[in-house]
Amino acid sequence: MAKYIFVVGGVMSSIGKGVAAASIGNILQSKGYRVANIKCDMYVNVDAGTIRPAEHGEVFVGEDGIEADQDLGNYERFTNNVCTRDNYITTGQVYQEVIRRERNLEYGGEDVEVVPDIPNEIIRRIKLCRKKDNAEIVVIEFGGTVGEYQLLLFLEAARMMKSANPADVFFVMVSYLPTPSLLGEQKSKPTQFAIRTLNSAGIAPDFILCRADQPVTPDIKHTISTVCSLPEERIISAPDIYSIYDVPVNFEKEHFGEIVLRTMGLKARKKDLAEWTKLSQKIKKISKKTTIGIVGKYFNFKSCRDTYISVIEAINHASWAENRRPEILWLDSEKYEANQKQLKELDKLDGIIVPGGFGKRGTEGMILAAEYARKHKIPYFGLCLGMQILTISFARHVLGLKDANSTELNSKTKNPVICTMSDQVETIKNKQYGGSMRLGAYPASLAKNSLSYKAYGAVEISERHRHRYEFNNRYKETLRKGGLRIAGTNHGLDLVEIVEVEGHPWMVGTQFHPEFKSRPLKPHPLFRDFIRTAIRKR
Ligand code: GLN
Repeated sequence: MAKYIFVVGGVMSSIGKGVAAASIGNILQSKGYRVANIKCDMYVNVDAGTIRPAEHGEVFVGEDGIEADQDLGNYERFTNNVCTRDNYITTGQVYQEVIRRERNLEYGGEDVEVVPDIPNEIIRRIKLCRKKDNAEIVVIEFGGTVGEYQLLLFLEAARMMKSANPADVFFVMVSYLPTPSLLGEQKSKPTQFAIRTLNSAGIAPDFILCRADQPVTPDIKHTISTVCSLPEERIISAPDIYSIYDVPVNFEKEHFGEIVLRTMGLKARKKDLAEWTKLSQKIKKISKKTTIGIVGKYFNFKSCRDTYISVIEAINHASWAENRRPEILWLDSEKYEANQKQLKELDKLDGIIVPGGFGKRGTEGMILAAEYARKHKIPYFGLCLGMQILTISFARHVLGLKDANSTELNSKTKNPVICTMSDQVETIKNKQYGGSMRLGAYPASLAKNSLSYKAYGAVEISERHRHRYEFNNRYKETLRKGGLRIAGTNHGLDLVEIVEVEGHPWMVGTQFHPEFKSRPLKPHPLFRDFIRTAIRKR
C-alpha cells in the first residue's frame, strides 16, 4: 500500500508551497523511495493552457503535451521525474469526467451527487497517477489556501482517503508566519486560525512547515505544537533562503525527511542528498556574474519570476555550471518600437533571450532587438516565438523582404515566412483554443555542421512544443541561401525545428521550448552553450 502526503496552504498563497512539495519529493526520493508529485488546481479550467501567464504564471508543458501549472516544472526539476497529465488535476477535469460518465449511464441510474461523486473522482485520479508512476509515496499539492470555498471538495477527497486508510494518509500544512515590522517578532496566530480551518474540514495536520523570513523561534514552535497537538519536531522551519535549491537541504537540517518517514512507519533505505547539497553550496559562492536580457512582453513586474520560471531556471542551471551568477534584465520590447535608440542598452548584455509569446503586441520591438543582436554579434537565443522572430528579422534585414512576417502577427503579409500550421487552420477558425496547439515532445534531427549538434553531441533529439505557427518551407531555400542555417528538422512532419545564423557567434532559435527540460544538476545543452558563448564574448 502506498503512502499519500497532502500539502495544503495556510494563511496565504505564493509562499513557496510548490517548491515545498517538490522538496518533499526530492528528500524522500533521496532516501530511496519512488515518489510521484501531483498538483491539484481549484479552477474550473480543464488545463492551464488558456490562462494568462502574466497573472497565473508560466504554462508548463509535459512530455505528453499537458499544459499544466508551473509547479509541475518544480516537481520535474526537483525529482527528475517526468510529469504527464496524470500528475495534474483540476476542478474542470474532475467535473468533465463525472458528467461524461453520467451521460454514458455509467452511474447506473443513480443520482450523481457533488459529494461523494466529485471527491471520488479526485481520489480515482490520485490513485491512477500513483499507478502510472509506480510510486511508493505520492505527494499531492493543493493550490490555494485553506478556507477557500473551492478547495472544499478536494479537502473532502483527502479526508475520505484518510478515513479509509488512516495509516497511509498524511497532511503537511505550509503556513506563513508574519513578522510585523512594528513588533519585530514572529506571530503565529494566523497559522493557528489556518489549523482550525483545516480542522473544520475534518483534517488534522501531521506537519507544519513554517514559512517566514527567519527560522521559527522555539516559543512559536511550542505554541503551534500545542495548538495542533503535534510533537515539536513536526513543526519545521522554512525561512527565506538564498535559492530555492536550498529548500531540501534546509529541511534536512531539521531531519524532516527522517521524521516524515518515521511518522509514516517507514525507514530510510539510503541517504543521498550529496550532489544536491554541493550545488546549493556552490550557488552561494559564485561571485562572477553574467548579464542576460530577456526581451519580452509579459512583464507585470511583480511576477516575472512566475511568468518565465522555466526560462529563468534554465539560465540559472547553465550559468551555475559555468560558475557564473546570472543577472537577468527584463527588457520590454515595446520601448524599442517607440524609440529605436533604446536598443543601445542591449550592448551591456552578454546575451539576449527572446522567449515564447502570443499575439502581435511587442513583436516589432523584438524583431528590432533580433536584428541588433545579429549586427552586433550579441549571443541570441530565441525560444519558440523567439525563433519565429529571428526568422522574420532575418528575412527582412538580410534578404530585404521588408514585409516578412508571421501570419499570427499580420494575416495579410505578402511574405509569411512563419505561417499557420495546416492542422491549425480549422482549429483557429472554429475558436477551438483549448489543448489544440502542437503540444508536447516531438523528435528532431540535427544538421552536423550546426551549433545545436555541437551542443547536444547527438543527431536525434526530442523536445517539448507549444505552438500553432511554423517556419514556412516555401522560404526554406531562399533563407538558407541567405545564410540562415536549418539546424534541426522534424523529417516526419517536414517541420523546421531550429534555425541558426551563419557567421554569428551564437544566434539560435528553437521552435520548441528547451527550458522545460533543463535540470539543476543537468543544464540544458543549448542553454549551456548560449551562456558559454555569452561569457566568452564578455
Ligand atoms: N505564438 C507562437 C505560435 O503559436 C509562438 C508560441 C510560443 O512562443 N509558445 O506559434
